[in-house]
Amino acid sequence: MFARAALLRSTIPRFASTSPRFFSTTKPNMVKIVAVLYTAGKYGDAQPRLLGTVENKLGIADWLKQQGHEFIVTADKDSPDSEFRQHVKDAEIVITTPFHPAYLTAEVLESAKNLKCCITAGVGSDHVDLDVANKKNISVYEVTGSNVVSVAEHVVMTILVLVRNFVPANRQYLEGDWNVAEVARESYDLEGKVVGTLGSGRIGTRVLQRLKPFDCAKLTYYDYQRNDFLEKETGAVRVEDLKEFLSELDVLTINCPLYEGTKGLIDAEKISWMKKGAWIVNTARGAIVNAKDVKAALASGHLRGYGGDVTDQQPPPKDHPFYTMAASHSGGIPYQHGVGGNAMTPHISGTSIDAQIRYANGVKEILDNYFNGKPQTPANIIVEKGQYATKAYGQRK
Ligand code: NAD
Repeated sequence: MFARAALLRSTIPRFASTSPRFFSTTKPNMVKIVAVLYTAGKYGDAQPRLLGTVENKLGIADWLKQQGHEFIVTADKDSPDSEFRQHVKDAEIVITTPFHPAYLTAEVLESAKNLKCCITAGVGSDHVDLDVANKKNISVYEVTGSNVVSVAEHVVMTILVLVRNFVPANRQYLEGDWNVAEVARESYDLEGKVVGTLGSGRIGTRVLQRLKPFDCAKLTYYDYQRNDFLEKETGAVRVEDLKEFLSELDVLTINCPLYEGTKGLIDAEKISWMKKGAWIVNTARGAIVNAKDVKAALASGHLRGYGGDVTDQQPPPKDHPFYTMAASHSGGIPYQHGVGGNAMTPHISGTSIDAQIRYANGVKEILDNYFNGKPQTPANIIVEKGQYATKAYGQRK
């Protein structure tokens, strides 16, 4: 217990740094920084390590204030007269999270006359129009790797929740009922199934590593980048043809970034290439799948289940297909208790408390590098100096 507490303390950002740089007499110029984070409300006080929130401000508010910077923090982001849209016009740095993203569209970037740097508190920078950022020489950094374990754990959990048919079983129990057959008729073992990851980077690799002890029939991956480490560690097989890859799978886990090459990639046609009764887990980005096609495939029984934590718009509109999608299991017998085949959550997989501590620390480090003219950690650079630095957003010349 003591060791765990000490470990947590050591990873929480220090608000009052005692480093010589902090007391430097050559103060950097004052910078306007706008952060768009989600609101914690009453949970912010009760859990001060909810760092990625408006209330707890990534733990960097005092540190920035003491250096004379202006730090605006808001959750109000989507309407044209939102606080974000007003402040972005003269901000130099924007920080946001994928959980409650400020969308830096071409139009917003055009209005942001002083913007030089966008920082993602987390992983995945598709909320920024990266091509426009490149044209305008705006750098985009993220805290690479900060929540990849958190997401991989959520993926494994969601696969099990779907395959074991946990959600309706739990609802049935909480409603005070006991009907084994109602749930068992669509509950399977993961052992012996074929599982493949679309995208075999940090998260895809960790998902398959965690699945290895489940004795799946086969682990596979589809990625334009070969992953020797993954193959050696897990025995995963690379499949180079998308149709061949999808048609073999019982479970598809999606772990690639969202960009023009993956937007709407998993649509009705690609789902039809999958086996009848397959499951899909998507914690990457909502827009990689066509939500209406997923809902239709669940209703027709072609998909047995879909789960994840991302939607094409966040927060999603109340009439989003994912709120009402459900599997038509076993010849259309409806579940008395809630929905089968729907394992959606709000965007939580990458924002566990442990992940928040890591990405808050990472944001502080990126800012510190920026203020002091130091190079950024290469893995954190998505675009810089008008170019893509990452190889993960498609094969580019
Ligand atoms: P990564 O950069 O380590 O790996 C991404 C992999 O996807 C790369 O190997 C890349 O080659 C591959 N890829 C790109 N386009 C592809 C395509 N068309 N087909 C197949 N593979 C393709 O990234 P990561 O850390 O593993 O994260 C992956 C994505 O997961 C992020 O971009 C982000 O969108 C998402 N993510 C979600 C959460 C969450 O909280 N839900 C948290 C972190 C990351």
